[in-house]
Amino acid sequence: MNGSPPRGSPSEERVCAGYKPDGEPCQRIVSPSQRYCYSHSPERASERKINASKAGKSKSGRRVRDLDTQLAKLYEDTLAGGVDRGVAAVLCQIVYGRTRLLEAERRIREVEEIEKRLEAIEARERGMKVRR
Ligand SMILES: [Zn+2]
Repeated sequence: MNGSPPRGSPSEERVCAGYKPDGEPCQRIVSPSQRYCYSHSPERASERKINASKAGKSKSGRRVRDLDTQLAKLYEDTLAGGVDRGVAAVLCQIVYGRTRLLEAERRIREVEEIEKRLEAIEARERGMKVRR
């Protein structure tokens, strides 16, 4: 008992071979079978680009993308033994809660948009009646 956290043996632990935009080496832990993390994997570059262009257009889209990145990192770190399983389970629940919140937010926005359009249509109809 020396107080060090339980994790995989250090020889199995691998760090991503990629570099961050500022030139610093990426320090993310990757599973033994992988060389790069989600953000740096060349095989996933096109997938990342599609996700980024699809989701990056709105504020909530960006938040979905952030959650996606967090989940991908959690997945890899957990697989590599860098995250306690109990902690990973709780983090997953929190991310799930946030996705529920984003979904609720989207539904509210949709209803508000429909209401606005309906009001515009009604206002136009009232305007036509007044003019007659
Ligand atoms: Zn990386």
